[in-house]
Amino acid sequence: MLSIRHLSKTYANGVRALRDISLDIPNGMFGLLGPNGAGKSSLMRTIATLQDPDEGSIRLDDMDLLADKQATRRLLGYLPQEFGVYPKVSAEAMLDHFAVLKGVVAKGERRELVEALLRQVNLWDVRKRKLGSFSGGMRQRFGIAQALIGDPRLVIVDEPTAGLDPEERNRFLNLLAEIGERVVVILSTHIVEDVTDLCQRMAIIGQGQLLLAGEPYEAIRAL
Ligand code: ADP
Ligand code: ADP
Repeated sequence: MLSIRHLSKTYANGVRALRDISLDIPNGMFGLLGPNGAGKSSLMRTIATLQDPDEGSIRLDDMDLLADKQATRRLLGYLPQEFGVYPKVSAEAMLDHFAVLKGVVAKGERRELVEALLRQVNLWDVRKRKLGSFSGGMRQRFGIAQALIGDPRLVIVDEPTAGLDPEERNRFLNLLAEIGERVVVILSTHIVEDVTDLCQRMAIIGQGQLLLAGEPYEAIRAL
């Protein structure tokens, strides 16, 4: 269970992106829904310890995520909204590179890991292809493979379905649902169906405030 308490963040330009957010996120798929500018990415980046809140705490079970960022990054997988890859590098080589960055040093171990991950996201057959030739859906599945290096206990996925066609979207969401059976997955999105289709719990934020949290159908009925 991820427990967020009294999280607030005001940027240097005066925008209050997070206003006293408190939220419990149990194991499984959790949807964070809100319009553009609501504060979803700010919350995702803060949980991923990529930016500091002004106030508040974040705990995963008994661990304080903000206290030891290095330890947090070891147990966290993150697919940012703007996920950059080198277009001229093959999927296999790029994933190997990400594994090095995550501290998997032994070459043989990396080879096994890269193969297992590429198979899991169904990109093994196209492993030699350059990332620049991938469709949006393939790129997002590659992004998930990268986020799963190191067996994370918490996976954060920021607006992953924007720009995917319906088939790619379904394929991608099914993959996330599989992962959500094992670990906490937080999916941020402005698309209601992403949440109603596969999340067990959800929250809605607007203008940096938590508007409601609960089970998707209950929550949406309450709107
Ligand atoms: P801080 O976020 O640390 O308070 P800044 O406001 O200067 O500092 O912004 C940090 C980074 O976020 C910069 O790279 C900036 O270009 C980017 N940024 C600034 N304003 C926005 C915005 N409205 N939406 C998204 N990114 C922004
Ligand atoms: P969402 O992901 O829901 O679209 P964001 O967290 O990106 O929302 O943005 C929330 C608010 O904070 C917006 O008004 C946005 O312009 C502003 N913002 C986001 N990042 C920055 C930043 N680095 N610096 C200044 N303002 C930012």
